[in-house]
Amino acid sequence: MIGCPACGEATRDRRRWSGLSFYECEFCRVLFVHPQPGGEELAAAYRSCYYPADPTAGAVYRTTPPALGERLLSCLIRHRIVPAGGGRLLDFGCGVGDFARTAMAAGIEVDAIETDDLARDAAARRGVRAWRTLDELERARGSGAYDVVTLLDVLEHVREPLRLLQILRRVLRPTGALYLSAPNYQSVQARLLGARWDQATNPTHLFLFSPRSMRHLLMAAGFRMAWLSCALRDPTVGTPQGLLSVLLQHLRLSATLRVVARPV
Ligand SMILES: [Zn+2]
Repeated sequence: MIGCPACGEATRDRRRWSGLSFYECEFCRVLFVHPQPGGEELAAAYRSCYYPADPTAGAVYRTTPPALGERLLSCLIRHRIVPAGGGRLLDFGCGVGDFARTAMAAGIEVDAIETDDLARDAAARRGVRAWRTLDELERARGSGAYDVVTLLDVLEHVREPLRLLQILRRVLRPTGALYLSAPNYQSVQARLLGARWDQATNPTHLFLFSPRSMRHLLMAAGFRMAWLSCALRDPTVGTPQGLLSVLLQHLRLSATLRVVARPV
């Protein structure tokens, strides 16, 4: 039996896709890597997949493109998740700071956290107030400082998602909201591609979520959640695919789960 790192329940040795080292928790249904790679192995994976030391080498996986970040911010403002006219936002896992800069340009006061040294330095050079750890941030800002915390495709990367969400709940104002996106292993893409799905083969992904496992995790961390009702699409994608994307969002079969969670 293996302890599920997301919910703590013991689960039997079950692989979801042959050849991949994900186990499925029989209780909360999250998929998780076991054992998790060590720090050096993970750092090397980030170098090759996201932040190559030689910028001309090109990354294997792209982070949230700026145009998508702008649409996301408009959606968050329209749904009053980000207060109109400003507010304070924490972008956890800011990468090189694209979304943080979009929010700053809209008049929002932004702090960011990025554990990868190379990415954080790049974000700081671009004017983003980027911290290394939540501990450092909390010492400087205290508890209950933020109207919004964003986790854009981050939760699948962290070692202890439940613990992270519990801490983020603390840094939020009681009336604040958490917005997060994460890959959906019950999506059409995942079902069709199986072990060839790029989200499953990404060596920096330690967890994969389904609608059920996401809801379970957020409830355990002290949040009530709702699916974000405006389906976002990449502006480079044409209308027919855009409509399909909206439909898949409503059926919870989309590649990305989009969630708004508020402290209970
Ligand atoms: Zn579990």
